[in-house]
Amino acid sequence: MDKEFTRRFTKCPCCGSEDRFCEQLGNELKERGLAREEWNFRLDVKEGVVVDKAKADAIPIGSEVPSYGIMTDVCMDCGCMYAIDLTRMDVKKPPPPPSVLLPNRAERRRMDRGDSPQPSDFGRN
Ligand SMILES: [Zn+2]
Repeated sequence: MDKEFTRRFTKCPCCGSEDRFCEQLGNELKERGLAREEWNFRLDVKEGVVVDKAKADAIPIGSEVPSYGIMTDVCMDCGCMYAIDLTRMDVKKPPPPPSVLLPNRAERRRMDRGDSPQPSDFGRN
């Protein structure tokens, strides 16, 4: 696949309609000046990297892995859910976050006091 691969689909692959449910809902906000002109509302926007978790540690830091961006919407005429935009990108594997290597001073203090927040503390009041 071309590393710059990107493709937009402007028509429903089933019926050819260009009316998309989420896009038109978003347009209502634009008409009222409550959303930017370049902004588009979609059913779903997914982004991620393509990594085999069993091999992830073997990928050298700084090397590139393919990543994807996928946007979908729903045809208002036939109900078909389809991709509006497919984009392939490359993402460099980042170095591990500093706290994994060495806790910073504030974290060490918190750990020494043993008062780091526990999941069960959330939502209690
Ligand atoms: Zn359709």
